[in-house]
Amino acid sequence: MATVTFEKVSKKFGSFTAVNDVSFDIPEGAFVCLLGPSGCGKTTTLRMIAGLENPTSGTIRMGGRDVTREAPRQRDVGMVFQDYALYPHMTLSENIAYPLKVRGQDKASRSERAKEVAERLQIGHLLERRPAEISGGQQQRSSVARALVHTPQVFLFDEPLSNLDAKLRLEARSFIKHLQKEVGVTAIYVTHDQSEAMALADTIAVMDKGEIVQMGPPLEVYRQPATTFVANFLGSPPMNLLAAVVEMEASPVITGEGFRLTLPKAWSKRLEAGQKVQLGVRPEHMLIADNSDSNAIHGSLYAVEPLGPESLVTLQVGDRLVTARLFGDEEPQLSGEVALRPDPDQLHLFRDSGELIR
Ligand code: ATP
Repeated sequence: MATVTFEKVSKKFGSFTAVNDVSFDIPEGAFVCLLGPSGCGKTTTLRMIAGLENPTSGTIRMGGRDVTREAPRQRDVGMVFQDYALYPHMTLSENIAYPLKVRGQDKASRSERAKEVAERLQIGHLLERRPAEISGGQQQRSSVARALVHTPQVFLFDEPLSNLDAKLRLEARSFIKHLQKEVGVTAIYVTHDQSEAMALADTIAVMDKGEIVQMGPPLEVYRQPATTFVANFLGSPPMNLLAAVVEMEASPVITGEGFRLTLPKAWSKRLEAGQKVQLGVRPEHMLIADNSDSNAIHGSLYAVEPLGPESLVTLQVGDRLVTARLFGDEEPQLSGEVALRPDPDQLHLFRDSGELIR
């Protein structure tokens, strides 16, 4: 297992900058998720770690060693990419055991290890088939199994579970997390699925337009998003964001369409009268209030979605939708005008430009 370091790494394709001046230092044994929308540079970052793409500038280190110009085979990485790249002429057993074969492990012990990993990913019954004889989701799990069968310096995963149905996806996800902790190999995992990143990572790096916009433990990034982009990307449903203007009274007040909220006094020092802000409030930090409540967000009921242990209640507030997550398995009985009261201690305010006001 090894540390992975980027020092001011950029990658250009012609005049287009896919990865822009990225630096990070991933400790040995960490599980890092690169999270961001399509095209933000996640895969390019991963391919540079694997050695499949050369950076235009900057340095990449593994375990302190400069690997920037090393070929993929010189870096001991286990990879799972979106295209499964299984060998078509080999059985699944041979495919999965292949990394052990090239490392000289004997046949009996490598088939046994391949079987063990395949069973954990629920493809143990398919070991004698060839890739063309199994489904896309099974191929994907086979390629995950092939990466996990041996213990490299670094695991690299690029959306390895994207083709699985919801149940298998959850099972494979916890298996990957369990195994990574067990073997302690540094893992870097690309996904655009925020719940996958939250569930797997010790550290999430949120990417936007080729840059890392925030990097930290999942709950820290969730609780303290540095920008409206991060706030809107993490959480399902994401944080509600509403335009507002600050007024200074005994305590600061923010007004926007459908609300006039008095903020705790502590905000006074950070805000000024007339300032334009974006109010951010997570769905789980609001409760149904009386329509007469002056410290609530008022709108008309748009939808109620009972999910089992919780329900989502969405209001139309001007041209925006505002969603609350209400815990409990009773379906809320609501209609017409509805008020949602945000927890005053759980409000986030962002500058008009998007950065968090700290
Ligand atoms: P996705 O989730 O859709 O896979 P991503 O975040 O992994 O997206 P990348 O594949 O890293 O994004 O691509 C980043 C940007 O670089 C994209 O705009 C893409 O079109 C561009 N890009 C990637 N590879 C090349 C290439 N070989 N030539 C030109 N442009 C490229």
